[in-house]
Amino acid sequence: MSRPFRVLHIASECAPFAKSGGLGDVVGALPLAQRAQGIDARVLIPLYRGIDWNAQQRLPYTLIVPMGGFTAYAGVRRGHLAHSDTPIYFLEHHHYYDRGGIYGDEHGEFGDNLERFAFLCRSAFALCRAEGFVPDVLHAHDWQAALVPIYVNTVEWGSEYHGCATVLTVHNLAYQGLFSPSALSVTGLGNEHLNERELEHFGALNLLKGGLMHADRISTVSPTYAREMQRPEHGAGLDGVVRARSDRLVGILNGVDTVVWNPATDPRIAARYDANDLRGKTYCKEALQRELGLPVRRDVPLYGVISRLTGQKGLDVLLSILPRFLERDLQLVVLGTGEPELERGFEVAARMQSDKVRAVLRFDDGMAHRIEAGADFFLMPSRYEPCGMNQMYSMRYGTLPIVHATGGLADTVWNYDEGTGDGTGFVLYDLTPRALLDTVLWSYWTYVHRYHHIDRMRRRAMEQSFGWDRSAAAYLRLYHDAYRARRGHPYFG
Ligand code: ADP
Repeated sequence: MSRPFRVLHIASECAPFAKSGGLGDVVGALPLAQRAQGIDARVLIPLYRGIDWNAQQRLPYTLIVPMGGFTAYAGVRRGHLAHSDTPIYFLEHHHYYDRGGIYGDEHGEFGDNLERFAFLCRSAFALCRAEGFVPDVLHAHDWQAALVPIYVNTVEWGSEYHGCATVLTVHNLAYQGLFSPSALSVTGLGNEHLNERELEHFGALNLLKGGLMHADRISTVSPTYAREMQRPEHGAGLDGVVRARSDRLVGILNGVDTVVWNPATDPRIAARYDANDLRGKTYCKEALQRELGLPVRRDVPLYGVISRLTGQKGLDVLLSILPRFLERDLQLVVLGTGEPELERGFEVAARMQSDKVRAVLRFDDGMAHRIEAGADFFLMPSRYEPCGMNQMYSMRYGTLPIVHATGGLADTVWNYDEGTGDGTGFVLYDLTPRALLDTVLWSYWTYVHRYHHIDRMRRRAMEQSFGWDRSAAAYLRLYHDAYRARRGHPYFG
């Protein structure tokens, strides 16, 4: 029998242990699907404050990690991804990770993020040595892990880890890990790597660029975003780099964790339901209205937003149309945190129209589930969206997404056809206030005058398959490709 393919995921987030967005969801779910395919998939993330340390097994060794000019030491704890035997290693270094945030706190980004995540990347090799684990593929996620493919090609040159194929997944090209070039030495890499074919980009040290240039294969989280990121509008300054590497780039749509996001079994929502019997959804709507202190009314459409409140998400456009939108008999709940101006905007709207709007300005996973279950529509007018998870969660919960046709939103939501009643949501093609207003009013009108179409679309949306199996199979093909590129021969097992 051939031995299983071995993969180590290196990331800064993994749900449910540490999550600030879609990255955490992917790293928490993809390895589970890979295990089910017979891959020996494991995960490495930092041990942050808030993770239940004592529930994780302390391993009997200390990692000795060479950094630039000094040596750092780390403990390792091992746990498992939810309800599985998929190992997750937590890197224990209190000075780096026992803080009030993953990337920053109320004072802003942490000033030593380069050192914190360089340490994560170098520790990956120390961990593999300690475990006697030689991955076939090192799968790095986002800029925080982008040094991994560079280390494979440089500091690991003489070791067996030089044979590991590397895959870098870009969850959002706009987050690149930009630092001052003078800080490079902390990574242990020499200044010779500060050149425009590696880590230097317009005078800055750019970790993501370095990773893109060194990785054997690159992926991003939807086919449309794989095309969009090669264009200046969505390239965030790296479109040229991505174009230059497009021969090794693929877009693989994220799946959803169908155990965590399942209205038929979800313990966080007021009642369970499925596509055959939607009565529980009505109950969830009323429970949500009650919880939020909104008038409990079945007949008004309830619109939901769950999002980081940043410019990327297009919520400033939503704010700009809010007065017109709220002229209708409807309700809106916004769950999110982020830019103060956006937070304030929704807070003011909630104060001015307290019978219609609620702004819940915090990160609240349970509330996210209750909104997905209780809302009728889900608003996601993102300027760009590499994949987006919430539109898929919404569809699973029979909550019709209203999206801008970009990235993964374009790849997952099927626009309503009022002639036939087909579709799984409402799509706008230009993100302008006019187009957004037209589209939300179109959804409102359909709810009021063609409810039978809404009902049909709901059931259709719930029947879409967004599980991880298909995506995991695509990742496996990519791994084999990366392996062949690295070793010059196929994987023989
Ligand atoms: P991004 O990764 O750009 O933030 P995604 O749609 O890919 O966007 O993923 C966002 C994830 O974070 C979803 O699982 C969503 O439910 C969750 N999320 C975002 N904001 C909040 C919040 N305030 N409370 C709870 N969950 C949130």
